[in-house]
Parts: sequence; C-alpha cells; structure tokens
Amino acid sequence: MSLARTILLGASRSAWLAKQFRSHEFTRRAVKSFLPGEELGAALDAAAALAAQDLGSVITNLGERVTTRGEAAAVREHYLGALDAIQARSLPTQLSVKLTHLGLEAGREACASDVAKLAAHAAATGSFVWIDMEESHYVDATIGIFREIRASYANVGLCLQAYLHRTAMDIETLLPLQPSIRLVKGAYREPAARALARRHDIDAAYLSLGRRLLDQAARGHGVPVFGTHDVRLIEALRMHANGRRLAPRTYEVHMLYGIATATQRSLAAGGMRVRTLISYGTNWFPWYMRRLAERPANLWLVAQNAFR
Ligand SMILES: Cc1cc2nc3c(=O)[nH]c(=O)nc-3n(C[C@H](O)[C@H](O)[C@H](O)COP(=O)(O)OP(=O)(O)OC[C@H]3O[C@@H](n4cnc5c(N)ncnc54)[C@H](O)[C@@H]3O)c2cc1C
Repeated sequence: MSLARTILLGASRSAWLAKQFRSHEFTRRAVKSFLPGEELGAALDAAAALAAQDLGSVITNLGERVTTRGEAAAVREHYLGALDAIQARSLPTQLSVKLTHLGLEAGREACASDVAKLAAHAAATGSFVWIDMEESHYVDATIGIFREIRASYANVGLCLQAYLHRTAMDIETLLPLQPSIRLVKGAYREPAARALARRHDIDAAYLSLGRRLLDQAARGHGVPVFGTHDVRLIEALRMHANGRRLAPRTYEVHMLYGIATATQRSLAAGGMRVRTLISYGTNWFPWYMRRLAERPANLWLVAQNAFR
C-alpha cells in the first residue's frame, strides 16, 4: 500500500480533520465532483439525468458508525422516505446502505430488523437494497444479516471485497442462496493477515472471483455485479461472460458518480447494464478520504480548488 494511501485512510478516521474539511469552501467545492449535493433531492435529480442516458443508479446517504438507536432509526426513516420518492419519480434507482449507519454497533437485532423493513418497502415500491461491506471486523455480522434478510427477500444484495483472503470462501458458502453479489476491490486499511495489499494481487483475486460469479450466473445462480472502474478487468470479465454465453444484461457494472463518466456511458451504449452509485449527505469526510486514497492524484483537485 502506498504511503499516500496509508495516510489518507488513516486521516479518514479523524474527527478533527472532518470538521476542518467541512468548514472550508474549497474542500466543499472539490467534493462536488463526486457528490451532486448533500440533499436527497440532488441525488434523485442526478439519477433522473443518468436515466435519460440509459444509466441506472444506486443512491446512498453517507454515514457510518452510528452509536445510538435513535440516530439509526432516523436513518431507516430517511431511507423509507427515499424509496417512496424513487417510486413517485419512477426512477430506475436502488439503495445502498451501510450496516453501521443503520446502528449495527448500537444493537445487531434492531439493525437486522431495520434492514428487513427496508427490503420489504423496496419490494413494495419495485426497488432493491444493497448492503455495503465495511471494515473486516464487520464482515461476519454483515454476512449474517444478509443471510437472514435474503431468506425472505430476493431484492437484497451484498457487497464483497476481493482484497480479503476470506472472500473466496464466503462466496462459496453464499452461493446456495443464489445471491446478488457486488464485487469490489476493497476500500479500507486492513492488516496483511486479512487482506492482500499489492494492486497486482488484488486485481488477480478480483478476476478469479468475478469469473466464479459469472460461472454460477451461467447456471442461473445469482446476479454478479462488478463494482469497479477498472476497464481492463471489466473487459476480461465481459469476455469470460461471452465464453459462457451469458447475455450482457444478466450481470451489471456499477461505478461511482463523477468517476469514469465517459466509460459508464460507452459501456451502457454498448449494451451493458450499468448503474452509477450516487452518494449524498453531509457526513462525507471519511467517504471522501477513501476516494482520495484510491487515487491520490485526486489531491490535485483539492489543491486546484483551493487556489481557484
Ligand atoms: C459501485 C461501487 C460500490 C462500492 N462499494 C464498496 C463497499 O461497499 N465496500 C468497499 O470496501 N468498497 C466499495 N467500493 C470501493 C472499491 O472497493 C474500490 O476502492 C474503488 O472502486 C476503487 O477501485 P477500482 O475497482 O475502481 O480499481 P482501481 O484499480 O483503484 O482503479 C481503476 C481505475 O479507475 C479510476 N479510479 C478509481 N478510483 C478513482 C477515484 N477515486 N477517482 C478517480 N479515478 C478513480 C482510475 O483511473 C484507476 O486507474 C465500491 C466501489 C464502487 C464502484
């Protein structure tokens, strides 16, 4: 892991830095390239604009590590309202939620019950709920809750991280559920005992796991989603899918708002099902640090905005 990435991921946990960043106009401007706005309405306006270009979307209200049930309940209510708004505007938009934002640390059972409520309301309003994957110490609880909800609702999917040594085994144990899995490389700082660190190794793991998911999809077992901007990996997976005679729209590619925008459009124009993950909300600091860590060159964006 590069030094810049290590520092940025460490900084993502600093409450003091979060306060400094939020109070400066130039950092707020830099964040805007990845975030259409802090309000739900701004995210839905962006989703509508993407829909006009044949791009689906997933929205997520930024926040994590909520410690009280009251805060978690407010997040649940916000998302229930968001599902109503998506339906009212007939948008091809899904939700992505973090379990620690829905109070995993304030009580596992209440958190699971809230995710079930979201899945039920998403089913009633024709939408879908993705469960994000956070740091490795949350993986067991996250998979456990996903299993519970998936037993009753088909419209719920799980994110898994290719950099974790355990993910190959997690996929094997989840496959009997015919799950929708969004495979990502992984965005957090993890110890070597738990995760691969070198880009080359992570990419190789991603390709191998992605092929495994496509092979299962070819047997009608689950829907693979590739959450990556890595066009070389997407192309390799597309060729593997073609080899398995999988129709292009039986798997999806998801990318982040503001990143590789032209690629998102051209993949969709080529017949692939593509969704853009749109983040919104005021609690953007840790999330934004992770985006900078993925590509430290993005620090130039911050610097340019500072002097503009
Ligand atoms: C839809 C979606 C959902 C995600 N959900 C999770 C999750 O739940 N848990 C989790 O741990 N991680 C999640 N991630 C983040 C993921 O783990 C990676 O950190 C992130 O996607 C960067 O890796 P990459 O696959 O794009 O490949 P990389 O090898 O990092 O990047 C490939 C190319 O994409 C471009 N690129 C990548 N990131 C950026 C950026 N920030 N700014 C500008 N250009 C960039 C660069 O040109 C780079 O060369 C998600 C990512 C996506 C797209």
